[in-house]
Amino acid sequence: MNLEGGCACRAIRYKLTASPLIVHACHCRDCQRLTGSAFVINIWIEKKFVEASAVPKSFRLAGGSGNHHDVFFCDTCGTYLWSRYHGAPGDALFVRAGTLDNPDAVRPDVHIFTKSKQPWLNLPEDAPAFDSFYSIDKIWPAESKQRIGRKSSG
Ligand SMILES: [Zn+2]
Ligand SMILES: [Zn+2]
Repeated sequence: MNLEGGCACRAIRYKLTASPLIVHACHCRDCQRLTGSAFVINIWIEKKFVEASAVPKSFRLAGGSGNHHDVFFCDTCGTYLWSRYHGAPGDALFVRAGTLDNPDAVRPDVHIFTKSKQPWLNLPEDAPAFDSFYSIDKIWPAESKQRIGRKSSG
């Protein structure tokens, strides 16, 4: 998979050189606020597989669990490109799938923080959905667990 994208003014272009570890639709209040929308679609991927043409600016939010959350955006047009959650394993970035040139290329594997999901929004019946977060060991494919150095517990 070779996914490319960028911000609205094209000052920052990026390329993902590996497939996503997993794709989240996050319905938490922070994501709703940051996107101005009902949820965000985040591609969880190791930082080393995100090649960017320029360094985005960042802004730090305090996470609810005490872990910081850095939000990265284009200095010129303000498009928010990705996040970094300091509590997340795997030295990873959460790339906002709406900034892909072809956003249809990915779909959410799992819906999280559905406790604050917009009440008018019905999720697909076959979509795994969680009130808050979930257990990586239970949900991730073995290949993704291996990539971040987790042993498969079967
Ligand atoms: Zn821009
Ligand atoms: Zn969220």
